[in-house]
Amino acid sequence: MKIVEPEQITTLLLNNAWNPVGLLCARDAFVCFYNNKLSGLDKDYNLFKTSAAWYEGQPNLFDDQPVMRSVSQDWTIPTVLQTDRKFVYHPRKRKKMTLKQMCEIVDFTCQICHKKHPYKDLTREHIIPKCLKGANNITNLTITCRKCNHKKGATTPYFDKLGQELNPIKIPKTFGGVIGAGDNDREEWKMFAKKIANS
Ligand SMILES: [Zn+2]
Repeated sequence: MKIVEPEQITTLLLNNAWNPVGLLCARDAFVCFYNNKLSGLDKDYNLFKTSAAWYEGQPNLFDDQPVMRSVSQDWTIPTVLQTDRKFVYHPRKRKKMTLKQMCEIVDFTCQICHKKHPYKDLTREHIIPKCLKGANNITNLTITCRKCNHKKGATTPYFDKLGQELNPIKIPKTFGGVIGAGDNDREEWKMFAKKIANS
């Protein structure tokens, strides 16, 4: 079990055709599940249609099953929830992280000189440069000021002002909606995420 913050992303939401339609934070997942608006899946993909069946029954839990702690009780939270509705997943409408959002994550601070800059002076920086076939997505991007971006050029690996190797920015767990965005994805989500790639 793992105690989580209410805003932490814990749960993949599936539509009635078992396709992923989004991610939920612990609070939203719990409230919807507790009020029987969504069904929960346990480790063995057993479906629990009501929260009573889950909390009074014996779901098979992960070792790191997310738990919300209230004053009187701990509440486990399913890591996969399903709606009986027909939400449709639109790959083209899938959220891409904007430059603005990336700047907000690093608090408008250049990741090389570690100084704050106005939004207009900040740029997307490729860790592995595009000319060396570096990916053009969040797994290979950080934020730097124009001056540092120019200085770095195509050098890789690159070290910041403190001598630390330059790495992609870490997406906080509170940043929802980006399935497949990286570290925060749970193992059991992958079989559903694959359905996206193949669809
Ligand atoms: Zn800089």
